[in-house]
Amino acid sequence: MRSFAIAFATFAFQIYLSSAIHHLSTLYDAALALVYPQSCAVCGGSVESRHDGVACAACWRATRLFADDATLCWKCGAFTRAKVTEDRRRSIRCGECDGDGFTAARACGFYEGALRASVLALKREPRVASRLARLMFATQQRAPINSANLIIPVPLHPGRERERGFNQAALIARELGRLSNLALDEHSVVRRIHTERHRAGMDGRARRESVADAFAVRHADAIAAKRVLLIDDVFTTGATVSSCAAALRDAGAEEVFVLTVARPQAY
Ligand SMILES: [Zn+2]
Ligand SMILES: [Zn+2]
Repeated sequence: MRSFAIAFATFAFQIYLSSAIHHLSTLYDAALALVYPQSCAVCGGSVESRHDGVACAACWRATRLFADDATLCWKCGAFTRAKVTEDRRRSIRCGECDGDGFTAARACGFYEGALRASVLALKREPRVASRLARLMFATQQRAPINSANLIIPVPLHPGRERERGFNQAALIARELGRLSNLALDEHSVVRRIHTERHRAGMDGRARRESVADAFAVRHADAIAAKRVLLIDDVFTTGATVSSCAAALRDAGAEEVFVLTVARPQAY
């Protein structure tokens, strides 16, 4: 009888605790908004929930995300306004990515609004907002990138990482690993040479040459026969992830998929 009473008391206390934590979280948000009003990095309005990170809920809603049924280049994920029937989606190609080293790349949405602000903030502060993490997870669930079984963040050059203090791709990859339960490998791929910062005038070919052979695989046995999901913040020309994917394929990876937060406008 006494042990039953103790068990019941423990159970009741756990329920009380989980509801108290929920209330505390809501209270914390409200208190935070009062004490430290965070202004939205996009519109300057106030951010009411810390789950939204640096952008307000309205700016998140205004940011164009790729829907489940959006028409994308099946390989690089470039958005097109063309409408095709479901059975033809896998045959859509933009014509720009044929030589790229990855199997398929996807992004959560366009590089604009809340996504752009989140990417920029992540270069300054090592915090991944839960809204962004959940969005990455939702996108990772879609074919064909959902068949990956190992997450690898695109590495920064060690010098750059020391300068910044962290690798933003690795931060996103850790959150995605936690949500998806996929294995995470932060050590098998390294950046070999310090590539020039991409200059504004650099065209696709120049970028491609500047990152060719930029990556090396240190532990080929760890990635052999794996279906890798490379994580990066932005897919610009695809040159960086293509080079990293080629190194992984050379080292024995079965497939290399790519997931980024955002990518540029439609082609
Ligand atoms: Zn806003
Ligand atoms: Zn493409």
